[in-house]
Amino acid sequence: MTYLDHNATTPPAPEVIAAMLPVLAKLWANASSRHGPGQEAKRALSRARATVARVLGCKPSEVIFTSGATEANHLAVRGLLEAAPAGRKRVVLSSVEHAGHLRLARALAQNGVSVDLMPVLANGALDLGAARALIGPDVALVSLMAANNETGVLMPVAEVAALSHAAGASLHVDATQFIGKLPFDFSTWGADAVSFSGHKLHGPKGVGALLLRQGVALVAQIVGSQERGRRGGTENLAAIVGLSVALEHLGDVAQDAQRVSNLRDALESGLCQALPATHIWGRHVPRLPGTSYLRFGKLSVDVVLQRLERLGIAASSGAACSSAGSAPSHVLTAMGVPTDEALAAVRLSLGRTSTAADMQYLLKNLPPLLAPLLQEAPTTATPFT
Ligand code: PMP
Repeated sequence: MTYLDHNATTPPAPEVIAAMLPVLAKLWANASSRHGPGQEAKRALSRARATVARVLGCKPSEVIFTSGATEANHLAVRGLLEAAPAGRKRVVLSSVEHAGHLRLARALAQNGVSVDLMPVLANGALDLGAARALIGPDVALVSLMAANNETGVLMPVAEVAALSHAAGASLHVDATQFIGKLPFDFSTWGADAVSFSGHKLHGPKGVGALLLRQGVALVAQIVGSQERGRRGGTENLAAIVGLSVALEHLGDVAQDAQRVSNLRDALESGLCQALPATHIWGRHVPRLPGTSYLRFGKLSVDVVLQRLERLGIAASSGAACSSAGSAPSHVLTAMGVPTDEALAAVRLSLGRTSTAADMQYLLKNLPPLLAPLLQEAPTTATPFT
């Protein structure tokens, strides 16, 4: 199989699996127990926390382990909102946040919280002017993704952090697609809280964390004594160890990013050459290195995915979570893309497992399958030059 769906999930690294197995088999005691095995589990938990903190540039006490990014996002938004001073009850998010995050925003709005969405431009980049107008003195928190999971477009996190702080609001960043793909340090953006997930960076599923800057007030959403009272529940030690090992083995992230973006650029050029009806979203703004979000004329994504499947290539129609539905992507809709074009969206996401041979294989085999279909259904798309 040629795996081009790294934004949906990544295979766990062999080192991760090797580190998790002995934890499952031997370190199964509860890290809150006072007996010897419990204390051994507690030490392993502390070591994993210290590793996560070292790799991500924060203090161990600033790491709150969760069941993944969805939970970390919920904890940040609800927790920061509830802790905000009276009079600050407005939440500002971008219109292209992860579907689960927007669902949370809708739930908050139904409960009387005032929620505003920062729009994006046609190229997928955040409309900073509109963001500036929305971030006022009544805002409790701003929540912005570092990189979009569909287009890969990078968001101006440092600028929005400055706007948020100038208005006295907190900034939460969903860095789920960013960490592991581009160099990251907690101090760089000046964000108050940052979420991420293990399975997007060759770690296990069902584990992630919220990094919370020391001194920032947060109300726990799952109460319990673990994680310094900020997230209750017996720790999933094997997964936490797996996450720490995945981070430790990220290697030279900047060098990998260059390698992967070279592959992606070659793939995009080859596709545009072989199939001039190819249109790539976000191509001319800063993007994640491995993400290519495109359409072939207006060929339905189902038709394209079927041909990819036939070739043994795993790809996706935008957000994996919505690929079963036939609704156009909310991200493309927010960019003003017409429905018929949005329904043709295919996401190829390259990563650590991707090779030049994968690109050559796709470029050799996909265009001959799609070209006749594109001739049958002439496109109104402007060819890429
Ligand atoms: N945020 C973003 C930007 C994502 O891409 C994802 C995963 N698709 C999530 C949050 C949710 O992550 P998890 O699967 O760890 O809950």
